[in-house]
Amino acid sequence: SPVIVWLRRDLRLSDQPAIAEAARKGPVLPVYVLDDETPRHRAMGGASRWWLHHSLASLDAALREKGSQLILRRGRSEDVLAQLAEETGAREIHALHHYEPWWRNAEKAVAKHTQLCLHHGNYLAPAGSVTTGAGGLYKIYTPFWRTLRERLPPPPPARRPQVIAAPPSWPRSDNLKEWALLPTKPDWAGGMRDTWEPGEAGAKKRLHAFIEEASAYERQRNLPAVEGTSMLSPHLHFGEISPAQIWHSVADAGGTVGTFLGELGWRDYAQNVILQYPDYGAKPAREPFDDFPWRSGGEVSAQIAAWQQGRTGYPIVDAGMRQLWHTGWMHNRVRMIAASFLVKHLLVDWREGEKWFWDTLVDADYGSNAVNWQWTAGSGVDANMFVRIMAPLSQSEKFDCAGYIREWVPELGGLPDGEIHDPSPISRPKEYPDRLVDHRTARERALAAWQKAKAD
Ligand code: FAD
Repeated sequence: SPVIVWLRRDLRLSDQPAIAEAARKGPVLPVYVLDDETPRHRAMGGASRWWLHHSLASLDAALREKGSQLILRRGRSEDVLAQLAEETGAREIHALHHYEPWWRNAEKAVAKHTQLCLHHGNYLAPAGSVTTGAGGLYKIYTPFWRTLRERLPPPPPARRPQVIAAPPSWPRSDNLKEWALLPTKPDWAGGMRDTWEPGEAGAKKRLHAFIEEASAYERQRNLPAVEGTSMLSPHLHFGEISPAQIWHSVADAGGTVGTFLGELGWRDYAQNVILQYPDYGAKPAREPFDDFPWRSGGEVSAQIAAWQQGRTGYPIVDAGMRQLWHTGWMHNRVRMIAASFLVKHLLVDWREGEKWFWDTLVDADYGSNAVNWQWTAGSGVDANMFVRIMAPLSQSEKFDCAGYIREWVPELGGLPDGEIHDPSPISRPKEYPDRLVDHRTARERALAAWQKAKAD
């Protein structure tokens, strides 16, 4: 009988153990379920849906080259897969492990109807397998990484299966276009189309381009004006490439790549956190944050909108927020600055920022987004201290952001390097907004809020 492969964020053919195992067993039914219904499910944001459309189209084309194809269905995973198994006589479902709380729920529910075989392959190590001497899970990144590091390198990646046998007849599939994952009016995806090639082939291209530059990563990774990082995050998020593939290609290329590989460790660490704290995207892990005096109300809503639109009057923050809106991605250093600005300078609940990133990032990832937002806010298990407040203007100078600001905030393009990070009232062009808040005032307000939260 045919074997179902249940695809989620693992949209590749190479080094994809669920596809490989199913292909060894018989005719394969690869299915993607657009599931907005499993309990606690977090519906994908707009940028992710754009990516998903193209990634599914690319996977379908790759499957067709092998005589197979992708079946698209919509609904609650549990119901859709039970129905498909009944229609086709399939008795087994193969899939990769995912650790978002809704996927773990869905896995339990699916396994009630049909035999579900879960494989590892989207992380350096299975989440939950990296344990302390006493057998518990780590809360803090550094010891987590030290232990994980000892188990690496990951097994060498597997090639794509030679043959993916087709069933005698294909079950019904939805039409991708009818899922309406792409924006229509307005079409905000132009910048994304110019920046990305979703799908396995696009991921390989990014990887090969990065390998050339990998030994400069250590030096360049904090410079937003330089393309010094891999930009593999959306490809990794959608599983178009596996971390094992990246690890082996980068390590084989030679040079000092330890820092880069440690970033892949952060990605694993985030899954280790959501496994322990499934509500991490919504619930602060530290007590003073249960009842923090975040600002709210009409004026604050307008300030949040200014932050989202890149009109805060702080050039580096605005450059980052505009890069995000245009391309669906923002440089990590600038993510840290822009996130800190929202939480500490504007004193807005980090969950507002988490939601905006969730909707606008092409790499929006429940674990990584929540871990990084809680790290920024100081509310997480492994967190920066709230009282350490990033100064956007000196960060901008320190990390040489002039070229980056010129690219994303063209109205400041005429200012010299010495002025662009912090334009004076005289040099500030009319069309560029005034600062939403003064740095020193904001800092004092944030520290006072922290004192109040601690005392309550
Ligand atoms: P590289 O520097 O080339 O790193 C390689 C890979 O390592 C990345 O592709 C990513 O998968 C992983 N990685 C790197 N840094 C981190 C990190 N701090 N945490 C977890 N994984 C990391 N990353 C996401 O993938 N999804 C998110 O939703 C997300 N939200 C974030 C929110 C905030 C507030 C901040 C400060 C960071 C967030 N990050 C998120 C982490 C990081 O900014 C991106 O992973 C990185 O910028 C992606 O670019 P890159 O692929 O060029 O990274």
